Amino acid sequence: MIITLKKDTPQKEVERLISQFEGYGLRVNIIHGQNWNVFGLVGDTTHLSERDILADEWVTNVQRVQAPYKLTNRMFHPEDTVVDVGGIKIGAGQPIALIAGPCAVEGDEELCRIAEDVKKAGATMLRGGAYKPRTSPYSFQGLGTKGIMYLDHARQLTGMPVVSELMSEDKIDEFEKYVDLVQIGARNMQNYNLLKAVGKMKKPVLLKRGMSATIEEWIMSAEYIIANGNPNVIFCERGIRTFEKYTRNTLDIAVIPIIKEKTHLPIIIDPSHATGNWSLVKPVALAAVAAGADGLIIECHNDPAKAWSDGMQSLKPDNFADLVRDAAKVAEAVGRSL
Ligand code: PEP
Ligand code: MN
Repeated sequence: MIITLKKDTPQKEVERLISQFEGYGLRVNIIHGQNWNVFGLVGDTTHLSERDILADEWVTNVQRVQAPYKLTNRMFHPEDTVVDVGGIKIGAGQPIALIAGPCAVEGDEELCRIAEDVKKAGATMLRGGAYKPRTSPYSFQGLGTKGIMYLDHARQLTGMPVVSELMSEDKIDEFEKYVDLVQIGARNMQNYNLLKAVGKMKKPVLLKRGMSATIEEWIMSAEYIIANGNPNVIFCERGIRTFEKYTRNTLDIAVIPIIKEKTHLPIIIDPSHATGNWSLVKPVALAAVAAGADGLIIECHNDPAKAWSDGMQSLKPDNFADLVRDAAKVAEAVGRSL
């Protein structure tokens, strides 16, 4: 970290600041300019905040050299992390994970049918929300525990691990028992108590990007989970909010190489919420595979027009099968497989 003091800072203030930083266990290298003093802090500065340092009346500028995250940081963990989800391995060098299923679990029969259909088309994992974070309190809120039990049934029937969204700490025991991959939704990416709680879980976590979150904020949320004891985190980009209205969100495709450069964790893409329109899902999914995504999570429904949520962005099984066929070709072109 590079700290620049204000012009003509009195010597006693310079010395006070040096002993403050040395008190944090850091070494302070000083460049004495004609009017300026610049400190180069050597050591682990992840626990320091730029804003707190700038609160000192004699500090004029603070520049980070080291990222504020450590456990997620590729610099300290150069090899790729592979996350095991109920026997399916997700991460660099592994087949691209294909996760598919309805936005919301709507019933036992409906779920089992779509689960079998997407499995036939190539899916390796089943998604389905039982607790739904809806914008309106009057919209369908999910089947709750019943929905989780239907997911469990579909898992037994198809053998596919299941992913579902956890919205509150009081359901942790249920998820620990019945869900293979615990989804933290975009709206809860910065729910720090929930992040700490899933950090204590044994199940892997799918951490969606908040709709207005910077990449660094998103990585810091993963850091929360890992710092609390759970190293099995998979990032999921689902588009961010921009001024654009032709899509529901804007997919930030550059996050794939950025997450891979900055962290050692896998990243998957959700082209359904990123576009909000089923006809855009396939091209965007193919772009994600080309850019190096470790998986795709795609909303599918047997009768999208009658879906209880997100029908407009849901693929019918045939369209999902078509996507899988083309994704296999793209994957091969970039040295991966499905
Ligand atoms: C979902 O996966 O159905 C969902 C609500 O996603 P997000 O949190 O990305 O909006
Ligand atoms: Mn949805």
